[in-house]
Amino acid sequence: MEWGIINKDNFKDIYDIPLKRWDPLSTVQIRSEDFGLRKEHARYYGHYSYISPIRGTRPKGFKTVEEEKQFLDCSKKIVGKYKDVFSSITEGKVIYDDWGLPLGDGYTMIITEGEQRRDKPFSETPHRIERILDNCKALTLINRYPSMARIVDPDVNEYIVKNLPSHLKLSRGINLVTISRKFYPSLCFNLIPMDVLAGIFLSMRAAILYCIEESINNDYYDIPVMPFFNIGRRVGGSQPRIHSQVYIDLNMDGHGSRLEGYLEAFKDMGNRCHLCETTHGDTDRIILKTEFWTFYNTGSPVRNYHIRFHPNEHLRRFSQLKVNQIEDLSKSLKMIFQALDDLKIDKNRNILFNCCPYGYDADFHMFSDIIPHEIIGGAEMADDMRVARKLPHIAAKEIRNSLKKYLN
Ligand SMILES: [Zn+2]
Repeated sequence: MEWGIINKDNFKDIYDIPLKRWDPLSTVQIRSEDFGLRKEHARYYGHYSYISPIRGTRPKGFKTVEEEKQFLDCSKKIVGKYKDVFSSITEGKVIYDDWGLPLGDGYTMIITEGEQRRDKPFSETPHRIERILDNCKALTLINRYPSMARIVDPDVNEYIVKNLPSHLKLSRGINLVTISRKFYPSLCFNLIPMDVLAGIFLSMRAAILYCIEESINNDYYDIPVMPFFNIGRRVGGSQPRIHSQVYIDLNMDGHGSRLEGYLEAFKDMGNRCHLCETTHGDTDRIILKTEFWTFYNTGSPVRNYHIRFHPNEHLRRFSQLKVNQIEDLSKSLKMIFQALDDLKIDKNRNILFNCCPYGYDADFHMFSDIIPHEIIGGAEMADDMRVARKLPHIAAKEIRNSLKKYLN
């Protein structure tokens, strides 16, 4: 069931498919018209899980701890030289590692090459890439090991609906992965050129728009979209090459409780948007303010050094970002990541983009989080709560000082 395709040939077991399950102890039916209320069928917000057996079969990018260590040392000249499973995709043929073992088979489905549209988001035929445009910096592919099914044979679907216990459902959606064309190690932002990072964002943006357009053509609506980066193995990044992902949920059954919190908070603000008006604690938590973006240490950190950033323009979604905003973001992120590296903050980090779902008539100001890895405790698993020790305005001061030498 690779690439989110379920057909008569590969369907064997009803528990071998990607599932979505709403936790009955924390799920509430949506009643507000703004956030996906529909008359046809019930919508929910709360806690849910995607359960996808195929996620366990994805290839591991790091073979040994030693190999992983070499990626933490960003002075190494591995740019463009290291061979990984994505090398076979970008080269359009099987590439072998130093021990002569094949790195994947090179088959893929490519949604956008740079910003150029390629395979249709609901296409069914993996293939090798014949040729890549010379100026292409990044490619967006269908994730081969997704948490959601993209295409389901109608007969198989009927069987699944009939036989799956009623509290479970087949999870529908599109999972994208965007990679740099040339190899750049994910843990070393200083080695990734600005135009390559911008190329990743631009390719993601074009792919999201293409997928949403095609999803709407296929009668899907009210679509949560989650763009994110898992940087480093400890935060879910299984591949050493810089890559981002996008989860596009096509279940049309609501959204998670955290997003519900954001939607309700923005609704409460009315036309006085907090992000448009706040000074972030009289500016002492701001670490960088550019023409297009504001970066600050959030006053309610999820981890020590938790950074939030938002476009200065009141935009609802990632896909609304313009080229100059994306270029400025890439430049700023590179500097901030370097400043965090200099402070010896864990290089395993997540970047999350919080966006308004497509089709929701909600006011929203998109914002993002940079969350460095830390081990979390029991109380933090029990509630939507975190314990941090670093005062946000002190963290901001440290980062500002560390950032100074990269600003000119
Ligand atoms: Zn705003």
